[in-house]
Amino acid sequence: MTPRVQTFNSSLNTTAIEPLGCVIIECRLSRARVKRAENIEMPRVRTAPSTRPPLTGRISEVVPLQEGEFTQVYRGTLRIPGFKPLDIAIKTDAYALARRPDAFVREIDSYERKLRSFQGDSIPKCYGLYQLQVDDEVTSFLVLKFSGSPIDFNVDYPIELKVDIINKLTTLHHAGFCHGDLEDYNIVVDDGKAMFIDLEDVEPHHCQLKCSIIPDDLQPTVTDFGCREIYHIVYMLDVWQKPFVNFYGSDIYLAGIIPGREGHLLWRIRLRLQSESECEQAYLDAQKLIEDVEEWRQFYATITDERRKFAFSDDGSASEPEDSGSSSADSSSDSAPKATTIASDT
Ligand SMILES: [Zn+2]
Repeated sequence: MTPRVQTFNSSLNTTAIEPLGCVIIECRLSRARVKRAENIEMPRVRTAPSTRPPLTGRISEVVPLQEGEFTQVYRGTLRIPGFKPLDIAIKTDAYALARRPDAFVREIDSYERKLRSFQGDSIPKCYGLYQLQVDDEVTSFLVLKFSGSPIDFNVDYPIELKVDIINKLTTLHHAGFCHGDLEDYNIVVDDGKAMFIDLEDVEPHHCQLKCSIIPDDLQPTVTDFGCREIYHIVYMLDVWQKPFVNFYGSDIYLAGIIPGREGHLLWRIRLRLQSESECEQAYLDAQKLIEDVEEWRQFYATITDERRKFAFSDDGSASEPEDSGSSSADSSSDSAPKATTIASDT
């Protein structure tokens, strides 16, 4: 297979290179599985029509990022004569147990059609899907701008990043789509900016979100919240107050921390108290805990429904729902309510 004739228009710039007609991936894709360098030429699969002249790009300096059972992801440099080199990610099933051409076609449809306007904002810029057919087997290569490494739900990230992820997801939902399979491994972050990847399960979605997302607020039920996908992410990012606090090594549900029940708290930790003075101190700590929890409850009770809408819209710009008649509250992340410190483990 030979690359198409290269045609360059001097007025094109790097933002206009999306209509690659062909990509050549050279050098080995996987050091582990390929002994010699490969050189694969592939035509682009299109879901969106383009009137621009086709270009030919060449990907080299390919290194593995993640090699899974179903897909492998590599990082490389895409060079198109006359343009700046691009830092890209290549997702492929070249070394998978089974090829999945249909899944790649669904994914490019999300990039180029459903979520096209989100490229460069909440999903990576996409340089196309290239499929190579040899006999009956179709191997796919999806080429994206490299947009960072996956997050890990076990890490407690700065609130600014959590806000960025949740705002972008909410915006996507308000635009009428859900991701369909959102976990930490398909949220990538580069320089504090999050993007969603693995878009093969993107579906139309009528978001029923009816609850605010406020840091350290008490966790609502899924039913009260209204949207399962956003709920899952907010929950996994540990944005809400947990329903219990740790008191002298015991987890105590907030519902049980109410004025006048110091004795109940002491009873819960009775086995850890050795002396009279420890009991006295624990009683004082129990009083303080009850006061703090009450103060926190009262604070969160004052947040109006209006303010609870899009409490995460911190900059009022790109993260606003585009089609929204329900305007955001003017609260910024700086002025977002701070939780009363209610954990008492001293
Ligand atoms: Zn939703």
